[in-house]
Amino acid sequence: SMSIISDSLKKIKPSPTIAVSTKARELKAAGKDVIGLGAGEPDFDTPDNIKKAAIKAINDGDTKYTAVDGTPALKKAIVEKFKKENNLDYTSDQITVGAGGKHVIYNAMMATLNEGDEVIVPAPYWVSYPDMVLLAGGTPIILECDEKQEFKINPAELEKSITPKTKWIILNSPSNPTGACYTKKDIREIADILEKHPHVYVLSDDIYEHVTYEGFKFFTIAQIDTLKDRVLTMNGVSKAYSMTGWRIGYAAGPKDIIKAMGKIQSQSTSNPSSISQAAAVEALVGTQDFIKERATSFQERRDFVVKALNAIDGIECLNPAGAFYVFPSCKGLMGKKDSSGNELKRDTDFVQSLLENSGIAVVQGSAFGLEGFFRISYATSMENLKKALEKISSYCESLN
Ligand code: PLP
Repeated sequence: SMSIISDSLKKIKPSPTIAVSTKARELKAAGKDVIGLGAGEPDFDTPDNIKKAAIKAINDGDTKYTAVDGTPALKKAIVEKFKKENNLDYTSDQITVGAGGKHVIYNAMMATLNEGDEVIVPAPYWVSYPDMVLLAGGTPIILECDEKQEFKINPAELEKSITPKTKWIILNSPSNPTGACYTKKDIREIADILEKHPHVYVLSDDIYEHVTYEGFKFFTIAQIDTLKDRVLTMNGVSKAYSMTGWRIGYAAGPKDIIKAMGKIQSQSTSNPSSISQAAAVEALVGTQDFIKERATSFQERRDFVVKALNAIDGIECLNPAGAFYVFPSCKGLMGKKDSSGNELKRDTDFVQSLLENSGIAVVQGSAFGLEGFFRISYATSMENLKKALEKISSYCESLN
């Protein structure tokens, strides 16, 4: 039957992580004591030097349209960032800026996918990848990466998932939702496979680059010379600089793709906010001191959360080196019943029962493409985390 809503939109679902935050907010509004461990953003404030740069931009009248895919000043700062932090050489025409990392990835998919093109999405994945691929007319090919391989890609499995229709593989390290971090060696092994398949491009989502622990050495696949010409590296200021609300993300890569992405932007959103762009310049060129301090604080929280989770019967949790998420297994609780007599058959049952009985909001692993797990975001205060882990623990003990 005729519908006002497009067929392509019917293929996708609203973001399940946003759905959990909404449900938690509703329960809170109804007077329930709720702790949300679902949010994908740092709890820290945007640093003052960055705020000041934005205020200066407003006062200076930096309030008009800018170049569609980023101001020359911001592109220059991004070129310098890639040189300084990743030892990568780009020119400004290899850089595009959009309204957040999410927007940039969306543009990349819209700019490159034809009906039936395949995109390899390793699971557990960030919830938006498969749906963006679908919206752009492509076909997500889910490559499962379980806890036995620390949720990382097995290169032999990757090779099996490549077909003549494969256009992209998406890499995300440190990972949302697992926190998994790919070492230089891990990336070298993936590159060995991709070198044999020159038609496959790589979208590297590096948004958590600066949230790593214990001296983990960040490495990105564009640093492999033989692949650089078919790597689009996406990054942004949201997570590193606590600027999620400012909406600035960027990408570096082949000129033809960058140009095509700008073309989409020219007919859709135009430039990202002029004020946010000025703030992002300061984020990239100003002091970087707080990045380490904040990572130390995230690491303390991770250590606490991982230990507390592993002390619970039926829950098992790896100790990842980055991002601000852990992805514990709840498989040991399946088959048990909660105090209302509901049997936990799937991770969604566990997550729902935990929210209703203990007021703790987490997200089910199946939302990220791997059943039997849940994601905890520890980007919240230690006080909240202590309270939350006590409640999760007594909830799990109450099951029988
Ligand atoms: N990529 C990953 C893996 C993320 O977790 C997020 C944010 O949650 C993004 C990209 C998008 O970030 P932004 O807020 O810049 O759109």
